[in-house]
Amino acid sequence: MTILSRFNRTTADWQRLDAAHHLEPFTDYKELHAEGVRVVTRAEGVWIEDSEGQRILDGMAGLWCVNVGYGRRELVEAATAQMTQLPYYNTFFKSTHMPAVELARVLADITPEGLNHAFFNSSGSEANDTVCRMIWHYWDCMGKPWRKTIISRTNGYHGSTVAATNLGGMRMMHKQNRVWPEFQHIEQPYWYHLGHDMEPEAFALKAAGWLEEKILEVGPDNVAAFIAEPIQGAGGVIVPPPGYWAEIQRICHKYGVLLVADEVICGFGRTGNWFGSDTFGIAPDLMPMAKGMTSGYIPLSAVMVHDRVAEVLIDKGGEFFHGFTYSGHPVACAVALENIRILNDEGIVQQVGSDTGPYFEQSLKALADHPLVGEVRAVGLVGAVELVEDKARHLLFGDPGSSHKMGRVGFMCRDHAVKDCGLMVRAVRDAMIFSPPLVITRAEIDDMMSRFKQALDLTAADLG
Ligand code: PLP
Repeated sequence: MTILSRFNRTTADWQRLDAAHHLEPFTDYKELHAEGVRVVTRAEGVWIEDSEGQRILDGMAGLWCVNVGYGRRELVEAATAQMTQLPYYNTFFKSTHMPAVELARVLADITPEGLNHAFFNSSGSEANDTVCRMIWHYWDCMGKPWRKTIISRTNGYHGSTVAATNLGGMRMMHKQNRVWPEFQHIEQPYWYHLGHDMEPEAFALKAAGWLEEKILEVGPDNVAAFIAEPIQGAGGVIVPPPGYWAEIQRICHKYGVLLVADEVICGFGRTGNWFGSDTFGIAPDLMPMAKGMTSGYIPLSAVMVHDRVAEVLIDKGGEFFHGFTYSGHPVACAVALENIRILNDEGIVQQVGSDTGPYFEQSLKALADHPLVGEVRAVGLVGAVELVEDKARHLLFGDPGSSHKMGRVGFMCRDHAVKDCGLMVRAVRDAMIFSPPLVITRAEIDDMMSRFKQALDLTAADLG
């Protein structure tokens, strides 16, 4: 066996080897092999570059995660220093180490009041598996082992482990899985599609009411928790209408249902505050987080647990038979600490809240007059442009009565953006998604928007 220390192959060689040996996540392999995979080679700031030398403005921050941008030496140095001193030790069986303790302390500091305890994992999916196991353990400790049902939302995404797939509300994922009866789903607060004949505030109450209906259907004493993203990300950047979260919290309190805010995308500045929970006034019992915690430089996730839950687990739980070899990995924790320091010391979170976030929203809203654009949604530096067939009738591509296949137009627009305009965006059905690095400047936002406008025009021309 020989292992290359220098990767001096051609793009075609890489594509051939990739097709022969690599199974990528969320990929149609036959389609990919026919097209040829893009080989990304380097990145700096908000830009990525591929093996053919094409520079692409990364409007998605990787997978919603490179919050401080690419190429930050400080993160490399933090990892190197920690690898040199203590590259690994576990946190099982009555051991700990300084980076994990310090990170738990810092997270307690920046999360909403009462979330003072951290359980570490490596991915968002693992964090949500931890959420399920912890919630069930909590209700056992409370003497109510029958409280097992966890309610979440259609098109919510909470990861792709077996439990996280159940927890999420992605129908195409459920088809390849088995949906357990412990997991129940309600509709998402998707005003443009489901409620545009009502005032957003009235629709917010109606959409939150679906939770109460489901709790009553399952039986309040059987419901363990409700989980949702403050803004539903992978489901199409569904921004909840005003009043939704307050009503959701009222309902959870009324029935003693634990509230879980999945901050894997919204956390670490994305919405202009440290957490989406700050932006929407949510006071969760548990808060899974990942991605922006290390800006994606190294895998790490956490579940922050409120005192009122943690005290029960500590007092009555005995040993919690759960954990991962890499729970609280010291190098990942050291990188997270440096990443949070950068977000804080450089005022990046504040800048998203008061400057680049509102500027991005205003720039995106300027596209509202384009013939393909039905709705623009944005908070902080996450946003979506909903492409529609008929603006007046709010008719989405793929709706009954539409002449286009669902997803086709979004993917067409995405292909134009990436290949013809040098802009990485994501298509969720026909919503075009933006989630750029939080260090993006106003000038780079202008550049991103002019590239996107060009992609929209090319798509409109294709449609005739
Ligand atoms: N939760 C949310 C809200 C996410 O968006 C994601 C990933 O996109 C996950 C959980 C799963 O995270 P991971 O891919 O790290 O397992």
